[in-house]
Amino acid sequence: FAALEKADPEIAEVVLGELSRLRGGLQLIASENLTSPAVLAALGSTLSNKYAEGYPGRRYYGGCDQVDVAEELAIQRAKDLFDAEHANLQPHSGASANLAAYAAFCEPGDVVLAMDLKQGGHLTHGSKVSFSGAWFEPVPYGVREDTELIDYDQVRDLALAHQPRMIIAGATAYPRLLDFAAFRQIADEVGAILMVDAAHFIGLVAGGVIPSPVPHADVVTFTTHKVLRGPRGGGIVCREQHAKALDRAVFPFTQGGPLMHAIAAKAVALREASTPEYADYAARVVRNATALAEGLAAQGMRPVSGGTDTHLALLDLRELGITGADAEARAGKAGITLNKNAIPFDPAPPSVASGIRVGSACVTTQGMGEREMTVIAELIGAAVRGENEAAEAADAVAAVGDRVRALAENFPAYP
Ligand code: PLP
Repeated sequence: FAALEKADPEIAEVVLGELSRLRGGLQLIASENLTSPAVLAALGSTLSNKYAEGYPGRRYYGGCDQVDVAEELAIQRAKDLFDAEHANLQPHSGASANLAAYAAFCEPGDVVLAMDLKQGGHLTHGSKVSFSGAWFEPVPYGVREDTELIDYDQVRDLALAHQPRMIIAGATAYPRLLDFAAFRQIADEVGAILMVDAAHFIGLVAGGVIPSPVPHADVVTFTTHKVLRGPRGGGIVCREQHAKALDRAVFPFTQGGPLMHAIAAKAVALREASTPEYADYAARVVRNATALAEGLAAQGMRPVSGGTDTHLALLDLRELGITGADAEARAGKAGITLNKNAIPFDPAPPSVASGIRVGSACVTTQGMGEREMTVIAELIGAAVRGENEAAEAADAVAAVGDRVRALAENFPAYP
């Protein structure tokens, strides 16, 4: 860091500013986490310099002996951790991993059945503004209006009617477990590939606290930076029969040179994720998310689907008469970072949204427990309501901000 301060004080200041933002507030973005110093060390290493197109032992560049070791370790650790036949840690991101999965199994114009973006799916699951909707023929499925759980009857009906080439299970804002066996059965019935996008929950699978999609899916794509707590990036595990197609779809079809520093950092995170301490963390992530959802329910926010089985909760704010966008802004002013989110059948446009999404991974990494989740829920309630009720709204938010800072400083990020 001393070298950075000397060479570029402006960027050094940004790095320090971000650290104090993390230390002074509460991070509840469900897709974020705080990686370990070991992961950061690998990311900031000389491995960043190396070109290594290809795969270990089969590179298009010389001098790859060291990075080969790093990538082999990453692959082996992913295979061991997820009990998978094949792994590829080269995808630069979750979206890149998904692009590779489409490329491996689909031709342009093929029908892909995936969760509706408006009901919790990801942009890469068929949105027209993404390659997935521009180059493929998306058929969206969703949740039942009464239970807010995935409507498996609808998934099956749509699969039978549209005969998709690929079915995607996985979402960005779905708080419940997925029934991988049901998806497998539907995929088999219509001869479709089953892709599970485990970006959000792979870290809970790694900790053994929720069921694994690996035995059911043809291919599982994931991100390494969410609950899994690795560097920003993507990964893929699959059955051996699809290994060649997926490897080729990553490189050379959709990517060039791999980011060897990131792959080394993924190896570090996968090693960390195989420890008993990590399994304990993963269990606490789920307990904390449940406590947070219950606490927010007590503040008048309705947990979509009645609660959560994972690291995230989606809250419907309509009873409070506050939009998701306003809640995000007010919580932000008090030092609580969360995001507005559409709820299923949301009457509001996505830029406004009727809900918020919260996740427990960062605060769990900081060592907070269920007691702190109850306090955080109260703080969110006070911040979100403050401006509505009090004439001296700014003071109300400032008072919440002081409590937020005190709590965050008791459990410092990167102590
Ligand atoms: N898939 C799902 C379900 C996600 O939630 C996300 C990101 O939030 C992605 C894919 C994309 O990951 P990335 O942002 O690394 O491209």
